[in-house]
Amino acid sequence: MKDFSTILIAVDFSDSSDNAFQMARTLAEKFSAKLIVLHVINEPIDLRGFYVPHISFDKLEEEIEEGAKKMMESFCRQHMAGFENFEPLIVPGLPYDEIITQAEAHGADLIVLGTHGRTGLDHVLFGSTAEKVVRKSQAPVLTVRLDVESAE
Ligand code: AMP
Repeated sequence: MKDFSTILIAVDFSDSSDNAFQMARTLAEKFSAKLIVLHVINEPIDLRGFYVPHISFDKLEEEIEEGAKKMMESFCRQHMAGFENFEPLIVPGLPYDEIITQAEAHGADLIVLGTHGRTGLDHVLFGSTAEKVVRKSQAPVLTVRLDVESAE
């Protein structure tokens, strides 16, 4: 079997993606792989310049980017101790689309993500991001389900 050399973990800063991250890190350590830690700023295309003038939208966008950067820094501080071979990455767009695009752009041989995200619709088998990535990605995808009882 081909080794994994680059693993992309998609994080939305939910408990579910934190849990998936642990699996991704374990695999990265076992395979000496690089870990791309991706967060996508979910950007509804229709909003741009439609409800608010460009000037205030740009300001809002800057603040959102700043906030996402801080969350990523805090995530990496918390989870990356003792592991150096990683690259944090923040991009705007549609989460499922960017997860696939960035995995291709970085030559990831595995995508890891939670079965659910921040919407926490536990009754559905897969969240919509997870489902679309599984259906559309060329690279293998590992989805990790958070065992809610053991997390409590
Ligand atoms: P969902 O399908 O939206 O419930 O989310 C399932 C998983 O997709 C999460 O546990 C994350 O691993 C990933 N994910 C969802 N939204 C994002 C996002 N905005 N950026 C990066 N990963 C995400």
